[in-house]
Amino acid sequence: MYRPAMVLPPGSKQSVLSCKSQRLMMEHGLIRQSSPGVYHLLPLALRSLEKLIRLIDEEMHSIGGTKISMPCMTTSELWKATNRWETNGPELFKVEDRHGIQYCLGPTHEEAVTDLIASQGRLSHKQLPLRIYQITRKFRDEKRPRFGLLRGREFYMKDMYTFDANTENAIKTYEAVNQAYCRLFNRLQLHFVKVSADTGSIGGSMSHEYHLPADTGEDELWFCNRCGFGANKELGDIDIEHCSHCGTTNSLESRQGIEVGHAFYLGTKYSKVFNADYSDSNNQTRTTEMGCYGLGVTRILAAAIEVSSTDNEIRWPHLLAPYQIYIIPSKDGSKEAGAQPIAVGLYDQIVSHLPHLKHEIILDDRNHMTIGKRMKEAKSLGYPFVIVIGKKALQPEPLFELCNVNTGETRYLNTCDLFCTLS
Ligand code: ATP
Ligand code: MG
Ligand code: MG
Ligand code: MG
Repeated sequence: MYRPAMVLPPGSKQSVLSCKSQRLMMEHGLIRQSSPGVYHLLPLALRSLEKLIRLIDEEMHSIGGTKISMPCMTTSELWKATNRWETNGPELFKVEDRHGIQYCLGPTHEEAVTDLIASQGRLSHKQLPLRIYQITRKFRDEKRPRFGLLRGREFYMKDMYTFDANTENAIKTYEAVNQAYCRLFNRLQLHFVKVSADTGSIGGSMSHEYHLPADTGEDELWFCNRCGFGANKELGDIDIEHCSHCGTTNSLESRQGIEVGHAFYLGTKYSKVFNADYSDSNNQTRTTEMGCYGLGVTRILAAAIEVSSTDNEIRWPHLLAPYQIYIIPSKDGSKEAGAQPIAVGLYDQIVSHLPHLKHEIILDDRNHMTIGKRMKEAKSLGYPFVIVIGKKALQPEPLFELCNVNTGETRYLNTCDLFCTLS
């Protein structure tokens, strides 16, 4: 069940039923709607997105993933080969070139990637496992685009596709990617749940989803507090699935979740159609076993804001905050004249003592504004640390006011303690 956090005034260009993350991201200038379900990513959102992409790259590289970039345009021919030109019909953005050849803007790339691999000729068993991924824009003509970046019609997805020699190895790959997903969400310090899921139009025989529990979530998840079973309601008969686990239905509870990732074991569904084959050690031709693994990159960004923020202030997982430190010198003409050079000096000192923070600091030099006004803005945007250069910073032994925005704690620290806290 969805409970709207706010309804924007009717008649405004952005007048859609909103949720907290969409409202905060629009109000604080992170995103701007271009058309329904299509958004401009403004500087702070883009910085955060790029940080998320770097983390995902690290996790994908740690399991032997190689990054590529496939075209957004994929020919109808490929989609017709798997029958998905028809079955995925209304969700595909279809386009036609001047010669009447039809394409769609890729909503996912199983067909494209399998054709790519098959087009290189028969693989050798020595080249397997093959784990390739991309982070690109995806296009889906969603029936109801809503909630900002949570359900867009154009959005960023990380999609990995894997090719293995046999089922046993494909399952090992499945486990490796699932572990990488768990590591990613743990590093982001996001509370997540992993549940059994339906394979839907992508197909395959085993599938798990990753969700951030939230009332705004559009998926209904069921959990057993006795055996740890968890499943998406879309899976079908939850009761039957769960008997096969602990034999009682009384212990099931439901919760809403935002689907942020999805893993599929595909078997040979696509590799058979496109002849993605390899030669085994006896030079026999065999079909590769595939998996595909999606992460909703822009959705993770919005979902993290949705679950971490207060009603009026954005909060980020530490690793995704667009900047870590925000320095505010007192207002020009105030009693604390001289704060500006001290702020610049502090900025330089932080950069030289803590070089990893070099690109993580904002010095707010809008000195015509009061400290209070700039502090309010810094807190609304959720920068983790705000440093105020006030009266005590002008003393011979300067003390800096450090606000930890996530805990709300404010302390006066000398330079040495300040660097320790920020490092
Ligand atoms: P949903 O059930 O929310 O429609 P899906 O099951 O259709 O998602 P998948 O095909 O599994 O999505 O795609 C992989 C991931 O891409 C999803 O787990 C989700 O995080 C993300 N995603 C899917 N659709 C959208 C969308 N419209 N906007 C933003 N992210 C999306
Ligand atoms: Mg969908
Ligand atoms: Mg889904
Ligand atoms: Mg899914």
